[in-house]
Amino acid sequence: MLNFDFQNPTRIVFGQNRIADLATLVPAQAKVLILVGGSSAERTGTLAEVRAALGQRQHATFSGIEPNPTYETAMRAVEQIRAEGFDFLLAVGGGSVIDAAKFIAAAVPFVEGDPWAILERRGRNISGALPFGTVLTLPATGSEMNNGAVITRQTLGAKLVFSSVHCYPAFSVLDPTKTYTLPAQQLANGVVDAFVHTVEQYLTYPVEARVQDRWAEGVLHTLIEVGPRLLSAPEPVYDDRANLMWAATMALNGLIGAGVPQDWATHMIGHELTAKFQIDHARTLAIVLPALLQECRQTKREKLLQYAERIWGLNSDAGTDEQRIDAAIVCTRDFFESLGIATRLSAYGIGEEAIDGLVAQLQEHGMVKLGERRHVTLDVSRRILLAAL
Ligand code: NAP
Ligand code: FE
Repeated sequence: MLNFDFQNPTRIVFGQNRIADLATLVPAQAKVLILVGGSSAERTGTLAEVRAALGQRQHATFSGIEPNPTYETAMRAVEQIRAEGFDFLLAVGGGSVIDAAKFIAAAVPFVEGDPWAILERRGRNISGALPFGTVLTLPATGSEMNNGAVITRQTLGAKLVFSSVHCYPAFSVLDPTKTYTLPAQQLANGVVDAFVHTVEQYLTYPVEARVQDRWAEGVLHTLIEVGPRLLSAPEPVYDDRANLMWAATMALNGLIGAGVPQDWATHMIGHELTAKFQIDHARTLAIVLPALLQECRQTKREKLLQYAERIWGLNSDAGTDEQRIDAAIVCTRDFFESLGIATRLSAYGIGEEAIDGLVAQLQEHGMVKLGERRHVTLDVSRRILLAAL
């Protein structure tokens, strides 16, 4: 096992009707800015519930944070907070609203020039942030219990990641019934994003991290079990939603990633696809991952065989090692497709002519040595993208 530090300060408040707990979770004297996305929080009644729970506290709402949240929109919130003196943020939404909240929280006290520098330096230049909590409405990203965020700057066509110890939510309210209004496409996205987060920390090279491996396998099995049921059930089933929600949180809250090598090449290549073509985050992952696993099958060999056996039941009766690795990659692709998520660039209308531009973007954003061994160079990324056509 590799050396690691582990500390996760986010309090999770899980279950039906837990939004009412905001009454005690949010500091009594706080002046609160609620952050929401487009219209879903209002339409579903969640925003009204949140406001009711805040009681007498001073509060206002900032709306319009878009999926794949932008620096441009976030900076409007920063200006409002600085002008009106809000001292607590409450993000109500999915990963986009929560990620925007993290950036906004860090940008408000950032006085060393343009807060875009936070993204350029991947968060290493943050020395504090406003406190914030979240009410999660879309299980997918794990952002509700981690300290990372992904922000897009439209004018630059850049989608970049930052993280900081100052950017953990103080608390996150996870009410599985809040997922009942999600369209099937977003549920499927959530399953795939959580699945790929887990794989990026599990399918690396073995370091005898047995507990982390089995936690990761537990998350993957849970997603494989509940994923298809979520989409086919005529009515939402509470326990399936609860298991999705907790699986997605566990997939990226630091636990399964402690003491193990981490890949993240699929995410970094995927971010370029979203920046260029506005494809949903999870869909970019479903495109890149099967191609990346093929490309990296030698360096990931031992864990791919473990994955084949423990996740897909492909033991030594299922063929040679090479055949079992191939079959495990096919199972992965088929799983995504079974959720209605296309796994080829061509299905999104993207052809070979786009590859040069995507590789140039990777270079521009410093994504030149990706993966757990830093061996996913621009040439390797090119091969992965070509294989994903
Ligand atoms: P999202 O972009 O937050 O939301 C997608 C859509 O779902 C929005 O249109 C939103 O509508 C709608 N929605 C949310 N909750 C709903 C509900 N309960 N009922 C109906 N509609 C609802 O999706 P996401 O997948 O959670 O977040 C994606 C972003 O997170 C990407 O930018 C990705 O790069 C990033 N990400 C972050 C991390 C991390 O660790 N921080 C990890 C992976 C990905 P409204 O706008 O109307 O609310
Ligand atoms: Fe993700």
